[in-house]
Amino acid sequence: MENRIYNFSAGPAVLPEAVLKEAQENLMALPGVGMSILEISHRSKTFDDIINQAREDLVKLLDISDDYSVLFLQGGASLQFYMVPLNIMPPNNKADYIVTGAWSKKAVKEAKRVGVVNIAATAEDGNFNRIPKQEELKLDPGASFLHYTSNNTIYGTQFKTEPEAGNVTLVCDASSDILHKKIDVNKYGIIYAGAQKNMGPAGVTLVIIRNDLLERCSDDLPTMLNYKTHVDKNSMFNTPNTFGVYIIGLVAKWLLNNGGLDKMYETNKHKAALLYDCIDESEGFYKGHAEKDSRSLMNVTFNLPTEELEKKLVAEALDAGFSGLKGHRSVGGLRASIYNAFPTKGVEELVRFMKEFQAKNS
Ligand SMILES: *Cc1c(COP(=O)(O)O)cnc(C)c1O
Repeated sequence: MENRIYNFSAGPAVLPEAVLKEAQENLMALPGVGMSILEISHRSKTFDDIINQAREDLVKLLDISDDYSVLFLQGGASLQFYMVPLNIMPPNNKADYIVTGAWSKKAVKEAKRVGVVNIAATAEDGNFNRIPKQEELKLDPGASFLHYTSNNTIYGTQFKTEPEAGNVTLVCDASSDILHKKIDVNKYGIIYAGAQKNMGPAGVTLVIIRNDLLERCSDDLPTMLNYKTHVDKNSMFNTPNTFGVYIIGLVAKWLLNNGGLDKMYETNKHKAALLYDCIDESEGFYKGHAEKDSRSLMNVTFNLPTEELEKKLVAEALDAGFSGLKGHRSVGGLRASIYNAFPTKGVEELVRFMKEFQAKNS
C-alpha cells in the first residue's frame, strides 16, 4: 500500500484505515452483489440494507430513542443553517444563538432571513478563544429554539456540556465533534453535522430531529427544504449520496467494533492531553489560542513566538510527514485536527517533533 502520512486536516479529514481498506476491497463489487457501491440503485434492496444498517448503528452508538428521526441529507451543515430556522422558527419566529465562531455567525446570517435572532452570547471580543458560561447567556424563554455550535473547528474551542435551554428546543451544529463522545440526545431538538470532519467523506449531512418538531414544518415549504419530506421518504426523496452513506456505515461499525463512544472519548482525551501538555510545558514557546477550560479535543490551535517560526514549523513538519497543520487564516498559527480516526501514534510523533523543533529554535 501507498505510504500514508499523518493528516491533521480540519476537514475533509482522516478516516480510519480499516474503513478505507474495506471500501477498497469491495469497491469493484460488494460481496454477493457483483456491482460496486458506486453503481447500484438507491432503490435497490442492497442500498436499503446499507442505509438502514448505517442508521441503526448510529442509533446504537448515540442511544437515539424512537422519538427521533435520523436523516442523511445533502447541502452540508451550511444548508442546515437555513433549513433549521425555515422549518422550526415558526410560529414564534424568534430564536436564540450563541455565537462562538465563524460557523455560528454564518448560521445567524441565515436565521435572520426567517425571523428575529437574539444573540444570547458572543465570544467575538477575544477572537473566539473561549466558550461563554451559562450565566452569561441572555436567553429568551419565548424563543423557538436555542442554537449553538458544540465544537468550533476554526478556533479550537468546545462546549464541555450542552447549554441549559430550559423548555426551549436545543439545536446543535455538531459538525466537528459528532461521535467524539456519548451525548444525551434527549436534551436536543435537532443535532446536525456535516460528515466530513468526524464521520465520513464530504457530501452527507447527518440530521437527528425530534419527531414532534415536524409539526412546525409548514406544507408550503419547498419540498427539498422540508424535513417532513426526508423523514417520510427515509432520506431517499431524491438520490442520496450513496457512497457517503456507505462509508458512514463503515465508520459506525468501526466505532462499535472498537469499544463504542465511551472508549473513543477516553482515547480522544488522551490524544488531546498529549498535545496540550506539550504546549503548556513549552514555557511560552507554544501558546494555545483557546482558554484552558474551553479547549477542544478535536482541533488544537496554537501559535509560536513569530509568524516566521510558524511557517518554518509547518514546512519542516510537512517534510517529516505531518500534513495539514497550518491554522485557519482568522487565527493564524497552527491547528492540529485530531478527530476520532487520527491515530494516537501520530499525536505522539508530532509532540516529539514539536519538542525537537523548540529545542532547535528557542
Ligand atoms: C465545516 C463546518 C461547517 C460547514 O460544513 P459544510 O458541510 O461545508 O457546509 C459548519 N459548522 C461547523 C462547526 C463546521 O466545522
